[in-house]
Amino acid sequence: MRQSQLFTKTRKQAPKDEVAKNAQLLIRAGFIHKEMAGAYSYLPLGLRVLNNIVQIIREEMDAIGGQEMILTALQSPNNWKKSDRWRDDAIDVWFKTELKGGGELGLATTHEEPLTALMSEYVQSYKDLPKYVYQFQTKFRNELRAKSGIMRTREFVMKDLYSFSRNEEEFRTFYEEVAKAYMKVFARIGLGDKTFRTFASGGSFSKFSDEFQTICDAGEDTIHLHRGKGIAVNKEIYTDEILADLSLKKNELEEVKAIEVGNIFPLGTRFSEVLGLTFKDESGNAQPVVMGSYGLGPGRLMGTIVEVLSDEKGIVWPKEVAPFSAHLISISSGNSDVVAEADRLYELLREHGIETLYDDRDVRAGEKFADADLIGVPSRVVVSEKTMSEGGVEVSNRSNGGTAIVPDSEIVERLRN
Ligand code: ATP
Ligand code: MG
Repeated sequence: MRQSQLFTKTRKQAPKDEVAKNAQLLIRAGFIHKEMAGAYSYLPLGLRVLNNIVQIIREEMDAIGGQEMILTALQSPNNWKKSDRWRDDAIDVWFKTELKGGGELGLATTHEEPLTALMSEYVQSYKDLPKYVYQFQTKFRNELRAKSGIMRTREFVMKDLYSFSRNEEEFRTFYEEVAKAYMKVFARIGLGDKTFRTFASGGSFSKFSDEFQTICDAGEDTIHLHRGKGIAVNKEIYTDEILADLSLKKNELEEVKAIEVGNIFPLGTRFSEVLGLTFKDESGNAQPVVMGSYGLGPGRLMGTIVEVLSDEKGIVWPKEVAPFSAHLISISSGNSDVVAEADRLYELLREHGIETLYDDRDVRAGEKFADADLIGVPSRVVVSEKTMSEGGVEVSNRSNGGTAIVPDSEIVERLRN
């Protein structure tokens, strides 16, 4: 992509009312646009990152047997009345609206009810189970506080997966597989060493649910972390009794701020019973399906990456989520040989499938470098009179600042690694 053509613009200042670092940087770097508090549009650069995160999640969900589908964001009250969650005091973030012809509708906050009702039409026998389905779909939540940039918005895409199992044991086995798949996702997107499985409240059907919390001062949650064991307890359930349950000692735990990037939740038969999702077991007896739900927020993950990995110059994207792998910058000062060389390299990188943002703009070198630091592509490739006289290009690494002159013949190889 030629930067002169790219639909975006970097800015010196973020909107005055924007308090979150992730949104400030993403707006300044031209990834997102603020529509209003708690609502952001994704510009081409931002969508590339979001899509990369979505794709990583998709691969890991498919790897454990997930099947992707998509439910509607418009929801009928009927299913929600059956589970007694249509009430605003049961779900306090509902956005509701009305049909022209009369009657209420909900805008999806989550999907347990409609999916359970849908499943009841497709699951009859033990042979139809287990099933694991997931979606990337827009949720609407009337969040009271929306001060965390793209980490807490009133409209956001969620990956929500739901498991439908024949019994508790089958459910637990899959639940642990999801936990492992989540850790793979966090490792791939660059948050692996800062994200910890955290015991949290399980609601009425299970003692615990599990959250995945990324350590970060900007986090809204507080967790008590055991670094050695790599697990934590959410402050909300932190009591002597729970610690004893988990064989954790108070003096071995650190209290830290964290961002809940994902969670997994045993649902038992809470929804299957009220929505009539049963199956005939091998002896022909009707049994309620045992369910679990598993959420991840691609936008919250993107915001967390920015919070955790950026530096004073701008964003630092990990390789797998970066909008481009290489940022090619020509410093020509009017020298057409430099322009021709940069054009040639751009074609070369494209031919080799290296996703490249090519800063071909007619602006000062300082501006190009500052923008490159702000945008945060992992490898910067500079072509100038100087690098040409040295027989190559200057390649530098955004995350550790390492710089080297790389001969023409080795560029492709170098950028691949
Ligand atoms: P929180 O306690 O932070 O409000 P939650 O318990 O409501 O989170 P879930 O309903 O389980 O979260 O949603 C699953 C995932 O969706 C969360 O782990 C998070 O990554 C993401 N998510 C939840 N609410 C938002 C939001 N308002 N904006 C962006 N992402 C969100
Ligand atoms: Mg919430």
